[in-house]
Formats: sequence, structure tokens, C-alpha cells
Amino acid sequence: MEQIKLAVAGARAAYNLRKTRTLEFRVQQLKALETMLIKKKDEFSLALKKDLHKDQFAVEIYELSGLLNEIAVALNKLPEWTAPEYVSKSMMTLMDDVYIHREPLGVVLIIGAWNYPLGLAIQPLIGAIAAGNAAVLKPSEVSGNTAQLLGELLPQYLDKDLYPVINGGAEETTELLKHPFDHIFYTGSTTVGRIIMEAAAKQLTPVTLELGGKSPCYIDGNCDLDVACRRIAWGRYTNCGQTCIAPDYILCDKSIQDEVVKKISTTLTEFYGADPQESPDYGRIVNQRHFKRIMSLLEGVNVVYGGQNDEEDLYIAPTIVTDVDPDSKIMQEEIFGPLLPIVTASSADEAIGFINKRDKPLALYIFSRNKRLIKRMIAETSSGGVTANDCMIHFSVASLPFGGVGKSGIGAYHGKFSFETFSHRRACVVKSLGLERVNSIRYAPATESKRKWTLWLLKKSGGGGKMRLIAFALLGALVAIAMKLYFM
Ligand code: NAD
Repeated sequence: MEQIKLAVAGARAAYNLRKTRTLEFRVQQLKALETMLIKKKDEFSLALKKDLHKDQFAVEIYELSGLLNEIAVALNKLPEWTAPEYVSKSMMTLMDDVYIHREPLGVVLIIGAWNYPLGLAIQPLIGAIAAGNAAVLKPSEVSGNTAQLLGELLPQYLDKDLYPVINGGAEETTELLKHPFDHIFYTGSTTVGRIIMEAAAKQLTPVTLELGGKSPCYIDGNCDLDVACRRIAWGRYTNCGQTCIAPDYILCDKSIQDEVVKKISTTLTEFYGADPQESPDYGRIVNQRHFKRIMSLLEGVNVVYGGQNDEEDLYIAPTIVTDVDPDSKIMQEEIFGPLLPIVTASSADEAIGFINKRDKPLALYIFSRNKRLIKRMIAETSSGGVTANDCMIHFSVASLPFGGVGKSGIGAYHGKFSFETFSHRRACVVKSLGLERVNSIRYAPATESKRKWTLWLLKKSGGGGKMRLIAFALLGALVAIAMKLYFM
């Protein structure tokens, strides 16, 4: 625990040297991170293979490419993001500089999850570096090989005082949480999210919580079922179902349930062959605890496809379950494994009611040819994000915020949203020391004329079109000149 104390104190001391304040330093660190990801690709692939049976394709597509894109976006946009943002003014500040200055929060803590252990640790780190923070990184111990590799490699490429890596489990995280951070960015389960927020509250530390939940997938009868089922199979069974935004369950009319099962099973054979256990493309459950948890969700349900398993190999076959009772165990917690329950809903209204009765999910999927229905479902439900007619794609768009709502999370990141998450928006007004006669209208002794002028000057420019704003600015300038003459 001494190591944690030293690492946090070291990060704070290094941050106080103000190195991270310059754009050049941030750019140099981001480029070093990029170099590490490119040069050490094979080592990361090997660690991820050991942790989750990920093949080269999965590592490149689902872990590395997103990070490299995120770094490219940050490098390209940093000058724009860090520039002062000039905002509209009130009459009172018409002659002043009024702008938002983004400054780093300070020393932040990033706690990663195990399912995409490289991506989910490094992606927030990119935002933290871009915004000029020091960051203590705590990768998930559950994917221990990747965590260990991050602990070895990051200090070789990044400033090791500013960006220390702490490896360990709940005990180490608990110890870390006793230290005062300027922000905590946590990815993981809702249960642990509560612990993190409670610890943060003691220090009055703001948090971003990237949590999980049961993400519904509604299939409308008016839909290309072949395409829908292929995309849903990809979303559900990639990484052996251990994806926070995987479709957790299907909602569809009973009349199409059998066809959905048939089409998803056919797709699974296309993806993974007759025996997915032999497929290099099919993942494994991360550990025995999760294996047992997932298998227990199958008790008492109607398995119509899959169900085979091998505890020693941590293998659970892609599985489909039909006619699921909404109150059954499989519908009470996030599955986070390769099981796909189908709950029947006889209409879109019933599906909307079903979704709204439960916690707000991290993602919502809707498959339909009917664009009006898609818009209606978006308007009448709530979720962290939505993809219609595909799964998970909203995660990959850097210009969209990624995060949950309600029980599925607090705050968001990716692209500029990461930069904002790790920045303080400082309100700045820079006045001149001149025009004191104009300013003196707010000072005592109060007079009726001063009261009227002050109230008028305090009016905001408000909304309205461009022409109205220009007219307002011109009027303001004239008034300022008139006042100057009047009070001189
Ligand atoms: P987890 O909560 O078990 O572990 C995450 C981190 O919390 C680890 O670093 C671990 O050391 C720490 N931790 C565990 N127990 C702790 C305790 N008692 N006190 C303090 N720290 C503790 O989560 P997980 O199992 O790694 O992740 C699975 C969950 O994460 C799923 O619900 C999934 O949906 C969610 N998830 C969300 C996202 C997202 O981006 N929103 C991404 C991946 C996973």
C-alpha cells in the first residue's frame, strides 16, 4: 500500500510542475502512447489471447483501432479544443473578453474493466492526457495478463510520474479510493460503481461511471430478418457475449420468434462452424466465477439452441432461449455472456412499456424498416445510446458521446466528450480597468437612474436570429458610448 501512496503523491508532485499545461507536452505523450500501441501490438495480442481467447482480428478491430482513431482525433483537434471559447455577452460585459477556458482537473483515477481490458483502460487515458491531467491507471485484475503488460509498458513510453499504473484487485482499488483525486473515471459493474461513488463522495470527488445493464433489442415484424439476425448474432456473441453494449435480450412478436431462432442459429454456424469450441473466432468466459454465474442463469429456461459447455475450457456455446418469463432469473441481471433470451411482445407499444418498466439501459436496439417507428421508440424510451438496424455501432462514432443514463452510468466520453470530461470549464471575464464612470452605476449610493441603467445592462442578449444579435450588439455599443459621455 506504500506503493500506492508513493504513486499518487508522485503524480500530484509531477502535475504541480505544470508540464502537462503545454500543448506540446500532451501531443508528445499521445504520440508516445500511439507508438506503444503500434510497436507492442503482438505482445498485447498475446496477453489478450491468454485473458479472453481473443484472436488477432478481435484485438485489431475491437481494442486497437478505436484507440488509434481516438489518438488521431485528439492530435488533430487539440488546438481547437484548448483554444478559448468566446461566448455571447450581456450588455454589462459587451466591451470585455468573455470566454470559457478549459483547464485540466488535476490528478485523476481511471479504473478499467476486464472485458476489453486494453481499450477500456487506454481510451479514458487518452482523454485525460489530452486535457492535461496526471492519471493513475488501475487496470482490471480479472484480465491479469493485459493488466501486467500495461504495468510494464506504460512507464516505458509515458512520463512515469504523471501516469503510474497500479495493479491489484478490490483491496488495492479500495486503498486508492482513500486518496484525494480530482476525478474518478470508473468502468465496470453497477454494484462496484456504487462503492466507487460512495468513496468519491467522502472526498467530494466528481465521478464518471461507465456501467452496464440489460440492453433490449426490439425486432419489428416489418424488417429484413436475415440482416437483423446476422447483426444481432454479431452483437450478442462477439467476445463471448462479454460486451457492455451487447444486445442482452430480444423483444419480438411470438409469430416471428421461431424464424428469429432459425436465422440466428444459421448465422452462428456461418460465423463459428458446427462446433464453436473449435473456432479461433469464438471467445471464452473470463473466469470460473463468471462461468458459474452465467450457467446458473440457464436454470429453468427453455434452451432451443446451444447450451453446451465445458468448465475446464471456460467454454459456453452460443445459446438461445425462448418464451422467457420476464420475471425469470435470466431477466433480472445483465447476462454478460453468450446467452440470448427472447421475450415476446405483441406490439411496439408493449415493447416500449416493457423497456420503460425496467432500469434505463446502456443501449437500445431497434430493427425495423419503419423509420417512424424507430423515431417513436427513441422518443418514448430512454437509454445511454441507440443504434437502429444494427448493434453497438454508436460506440464507434467518435463524434457521439458514449455513456449511460440512470443506473447504466453517469457522464460520457469518446472524442471531444473525453476531453470535456477531464476538463474544467472555467468562466473568464477580462475587463479593462477603464470606463470606471460607466461601471460606477452599480456602486452606492443608489439612485433611481442608476437602478434603471444597471437593470438594463444586466439583461442578457438572449436567443434570436443572427440579425437580432447584430442589432443588439450595435445598440449595446451605442449605449456604452452614450453612457460614457453621460457619466463623464
Ligand atoms: P467489476 O465491477 O467487477 O470490476 C471493475 C473494477 O472494479 C476492477 O478494476 C476491480 O479491481 C474493481 N473492483 C472490483 N470489486 C471492487 C470492490 N469491492 N471495491 C473496489 N473496487 C473493486 O466489473 P467487471 O466485472 O470488471 O465489469 C463488468 C461490468 O462492467 C458489466 O456490468 C459491464 O456491462 C460493465 N462494463 C461497462 C462498460 C461501459 O463502457 N459502460 C464497459 C465494460 C464493462
